[in-house]
Amino acid sequence: VETGREVAGAMNYKEHTVREVMTPVKDCFMLSVSEKLNFKTLSVIFKSGFSRIPVFAKDRNDVIGLLFTKDLIFIDPDDETPLKNFVQIFGRAVTVVWPDFTLGDVLNVFKQGKSHLSLVRDVNDAGEGDPFYEVVGIITLEDIIEEILGDEIVDE
Ligand code: ADP
Repeated sequence: VETGREVAGAMNYKEHTVREVMTPVKDCFMLSVSEKLNFKTLSVIFKSGFSRIPVFAKDRNDVIGLLFTKDLIFIDPDDETPLKNFVQIFGRAVTVVWPDFTLGDVLNVFKQGKSHLSLVRDVNDAGEGDPFYEVVGIITLEDIIEEILGDEIVDE
């Protein structure tokens, strides 16, 4: 029977790290800002089911804003509207966190009320070249809540 420190630790969601619960970038649904909101793109967006979609410029490490899918309600696919007209450019709206932030840290960031989605960014210094910032995932309030609910189940 496991009653020791590991279980107590597992119940303390605040000590878990972003890395453990984030959605890794390979699973993130993102769009290029150069896309047009035609029928094909809109179908893919609605089928994804996500309410917020990171939008990138050069590549996935260059996320410039978020698309809120609720803003697309009145879009006419025949207009082929450029996605860039719909992107809410970050300003102060989206936060960036490190993978080794604790969930307690992120919750504090979310409580400040800017957004409940954060980009997870790390420094990639693995290669020969200069280190660069790399988007490694996203984390939302939902990911933290899941962890808290998971803890309660362990608790029972
Ligand atoms: P939504 O409102 O879009 O359902 P939530 O904030 O409820 O998003 O998060 C639900 C799960 O989906 C979380 O695990 C979160 O990390 C993930 N998620 C949210 N947006 C995206 C996205 N654009 N691509 C991939 N996963 C996402």
